Order: sequence, then C-alpha cells, then structure tokens
Amino acid sequence: MVTIQNARIQSASFRPRTEKVDTLVLHFTALDLEASLRVLRYGEVSSHYVLAEDGTVYQILEDCEVGWHAGLSMWRGKTGVNGRSIGIEIVNLDGNTRDYPTAQIEALIDLCTVIIARNPGISHRNVVGHSDIAPKRKDDPGVKFPWKELAEAGIGLWPSGAQSEVVAAQPQIQSFLEACGYPKEHAYGTRDGAYVYVFDSANPPVGVSNVVCVTTKDILRAFQLRFQPDNATGIALPSTMGLLRRLAAM
Ligand SMILES: [Zn+2]
Repeated sequence: MVTIQNARIQSASFRPRTEKVDTLVLHFTALDLEASLRVLRYGEVSSHYVLAEDGTVYQILEDCEVGWHAGLSMWRGKTGVNGRSIGIEIVNLDGNTRDYPTAQIEALIDLCTVIIARNPGISHRNVVGHSDIAPKRKDDPGVKFPWKELAEAGIGLWPSGAQSEVVAAQPQIQSFLEACGYPKEHAYGTRDGAYVYVFDSANPPVGVSNVVCVTTKDILRAFQLRFQPDNATGIALPSTMGLLRRLAAM
C-alpha cells in the first residue's frame, strides 16, 4: 500500500479541471528530489505527484486540478493533454541512461493502480510517457523505463507475442502509429516563449519562430523509445513493424 505525503503546491501554476480525466502521463524529472519538489511546487510547471527514488510519493495537486506537466501535446488526435490528464514526475536524472530503482517502480505500480481505480476513464492505451504525446520535443521517461513490467501489472499496453513483418512504406507506418494513439506528422514553434502548433511550417504565423517539423521518423522514434528501446533510431526494422501492428490492434 502506497503512502502519500502532502506537498501542496505553493504557486499559481494550476487551474480547476473542467474535462474528465482519461490519461495518465509519466515523466522523469531530470532533477534530484529536492530540486524537483522546489520546481514543481514553486515554479511555472506542476504535476500531481512526485515519486522519489526510495518510493516515497509526494502529492502536489489534487486529481481534480489541472497541472502544467505535458505542455504542447497530442494523443489519439486530441491536443491539450494537461486538461484531461494526471501527471506523475518520477525522480531520475536521466531515464535514458539511469535505471529506475526497484523500490521506486514498485511504488509507481501501486500509485498508478490507485489513480486508475479512482479515475476509471483512464484506458490502458491512455497510460503514456511524455515522449509519446510530445515526440521529438520530449524523451522522458526514457529507454530505461520498465513499460513491460508496468503492463504486466495491469498498467498500460505491451505488444506481447509480436512477429517480425515486412517493413511497410512511411505512410502505412504513420497510420499504424496513429492507430496506436501517436500524433500525426506536425510542426511546432514558439511564440512569446510558449510552444504552439504550426499548421503550415513553410509559412508560420507572425510572431512564431524556431519552427520544428515532427516527421513519421521522429514519431516512430518515440514509439521505439518505449517499445523497442534497443533500436530507438526512427528506422523501422521487421521487428518494429510487428510491434506496431500488434499494438495498433490491441
Ligand atoms: Zn516530462
């Protein structure tokens, strides 16, 4: 049974929720515990929970409040994931190079189980990493994150039993990615310091700069960060195709 410590937010970086919760977003903090709590309680970003390496859970926001953890984001064709999601920030300096401790993952499984029981709108497909909903812009929780172990505990999906297949053309790979929930190809930029989607990357609106195009290759790499971490290249192998088709059909 997970114990939750109160660490109530001390900034205005949240708002009341108006949409139903249907998504759970997992992150790594890239900061140690003390700095994570300081930034998320007092800064311009926030999350519902911070999970320490020893498994201690700190609650910053109530589930009925919207946090600022996802930023510019898209999942299953809908943008603005913050409004519909609960965010867990997991303390790890770099989940692409550092393992997640066992005690932390055991506590995470307990915490996710409690959150999903309280918010039955969260389907398995809607348990996501930040990199899933903001490909190219974000790469957390990283290749070291044990997604398969979570799926075996009933949290999120894992494409077990996938077989290798002939590699399809890019448009078909993109349709499989979208069937899994991933965004379509898109572009984003910054305006007044905030990220915005850009619908025509060749002609961004006035005031928008630093335009980045997110291609099928970038979105496939996000898929691989999670489901094929030993080949997070954006290049589809026959094994990648099998995983994609299996996950799309789940
Ligand atoms: Zn994140």
